[in-house]
Amino acid sequence: MSQVAHHWSLTSAAAATEPGSARPAPALTGCALPGRGVGCGRYAGGMAWNRRWTLLCWVTVALLGTWVLTSERRAALRASFDLDARVLHRLLSQRMEQQETVLYALAALPTQGMQPDQLTAYVRALVRPYPQIVAVEFCAEVCRALVATQARPDLPYVPTRRPVVGWPAQRGPTYALTLERMRVWINLERLVQGGDLARLPLTVQIYRPGDHQRLLTRPPEPGGNALVFTVDKQLGTTLEPFPIRFEQRHSAWPWPWRQLLGWWLVTALLAWGAARLLSARAVAAQALLDERRRAQGIVQASTDGIVVLDPQGTVVQVNPAARRILSGLHLGESIRGAAQFQATLAQAPLDAADFWATQEPQPLPEGMALLRGTERVLVEGGLAPLTGDRGQLLGRVLTVREIGPLQQRMLAQLSAGERRVREHEQLLAHVSRFSTLGEMSAGLAHELNQPLTAIVSYGQGGLRLLAQEHPDRERVQQAVQAMVRQAQRASDIITRLRALVRRSPTQRVKVDLGQAARNILTLCQADLGRLGVEVDAQLPADAPVAGDPVQIEQIILNLVRNALDALAQVPQRRLTLRIDPDGAHWVLSVQDSGPGLSGATLTHLFQPFHTDKPDGLGLGLSLSQTLAQGLGGELRGDNAPGGGARFTLSLPHWEHHDPTA
Ligand code: ADP
Repeated sequence: MSQVAHHWSLTSAAAATEPGSARPAPALTGCALPGRGVGCGRYAGGMAWNRRWTLLCWVTVALLGTWVLTSERRAALRASFDLDARVLHRLLSQRMEQQETVLYALAALPTQGMQPDQLTAYVRALVRPYPQIVAVEFCAEVCRALVATQARPDLPYVPTRRPVVGWPAQRGPTYALTLERMRVWINLERLVQGGDLARLPLTVQIYRPGDHQRLLTRPPEPGGNALVFTVDKQLGTTLEPFPIRFEQRHSAWPWPWRQLLGWWLVTALLAWGAARLLSARAVAAQALLDERRRAQGIVQASTDGIVVLDPQGTVVQVNPAARRILSGLHLGESIRGAAQFQATLAQAPLDAADFWATQEPQPLPEGMALLRGTERVLVEGGLAPLTGDRGQLLGRVLTVREIGPLQQRMLAQLSAGERRVREHEQLLAHVSRFSTLGEMSAGLAHELNQPLTAIVSYGQGGLRLLAQEHPDRERVQQAVQAMVRQAQRASDIITRLRALVRRSPTQRVKVDLGQAARNILTLCQADLGRLGVEVDAQLPADAPVAGDPVQIEQIILNLVRNALDALAQVPQRRLTLRIDPDGAHWVLSVQDSGPGLSGATLTHLFQPFHTDKPDGLGLGLSLSQTLAQGLGGELRGDNAPGGGARFTLSLPHWEHHDPTA
């Protein structure tokens, strides 16, 4: 048969990625898809990791927030302290300047001509607003107190034309300012008044310039050490620029508890939400991964070749079967170059461009061949698009299957089936042979009788010829040759007889009568089909009888074959098999729609060698009846009321049979 080949390969693309470079799929876990928030195995492990990670993040963020909030609080406290220190510094500087102004004013008093009482009153009025001025002295040879609210330490008077600060030997917050003949005693304790420090929560320390001796600490208790702010300045006066230190001490860290609690709570809630989100995402991702691995596993395990393509027709996944069928197929290669199909005779050629661009599942035409080098491999399969959620094209899947091996397998199975049927038939024939031995004896005696009678008469004729005076040698020879021929014939008959096997004892086992009938219908299926016989088989599944399965099948086969011979003579062909209970027996009836049994046949139905058929032996029914009787049953034949012959085989029910029979 010539072949018209429609060749439709397309341009080939260079191989890109080797198949071996595909990342190996990790092993699957035996975990079912997890429900919401529930995990097992790796899911649980992933979630525990998520929880730890989220906790760590939360602690970090909470600490960071704590640091920011406390830094802000500290900066605010510091700013407030700096402001207070500035305010107090200015206040004290002003007060110092005022006392210096008082000194200048006193030094400039016209003491000449002024009565001492008058001077005292004047000075008292002048210093009254300044509590830090605890005494005013007028010095000539000695110093005389004009005003004194406290005892004055010893300090020698040194006349001076410019203002000086005098420090008594006795250390303390009291010192003197001297100008001309006036000396003003200042007590720093009164400079810093209680009310000032109540309003401004600071500690003030004033030092003596030069030796940096502490003159004053107000208030005396410095407070705690948890948080300390300090600022060092100088009093802003020209005469008394004493170093001054402002300090603020906190015994406990001033935590911004409300903000901190708020921050911790909000971040904890956010972290909890994130952890749940991450866990859910991890579980979903894991489930997706497992699903993908399962799909990959299925593709890999398939014995059909599966090739996954991207929308442009590039190979993105190949299973081992496809690699074998489309040998030399590589990832990243264009399928249109790699798979070369060839249509065979009487096949419309495929339009390759249309085929590879299909939007619908499309099978390969029947009998399509795939070119593998010089080899042509018969394949079947198809191409189907892969679509996404929104109907977008994700790629295509090509499936190919070699049908050559498939056909071979089917043929092998078919021939195995045929072999079994043949063996079955041979077995039945075998049984038939040894079972007919008894029946054959009578026939064989008849058969042998003929050659023996002929031998006797030829022998007697020969003897008579030899008894003559001049025996006719030629006729004697003819008689002896005839004797030899007849003896040969008898010998042949005996040889055939020897070929019959020895009879084995009948076995009684539980036989499913319905199944035995079904086996025979299967055996004769070809003939039934050829003749177009309509079969009506009412065969229950529970008709157990006692007997030899092979013998029972032999009887049924004889009945069905006879029915088929009868049906071959009529146009309407119908065969009915039914099984009915009858007391302690099951009765199988085989009825056909053939011409039925003639009167003569009815009379000699079960007699051996009675046959109507030109090539018949006339042994089937007699053998079958003998077998049935041997099994404790009965075989009967008759014409059915509606026409045709009906044979009934009655066999003992398995539960009622006599095992000793
Ligand atoms: P064979 O089939 O070799 O003739 P059988 O003993 O099986 O020997 O059958 C004897 C005869 O009985 C057949 O020749 C046939 O005339 C007749 N017979 C048997 N079964 C049927 C039947 N179903 N319908 C008509 N005649 C039948």
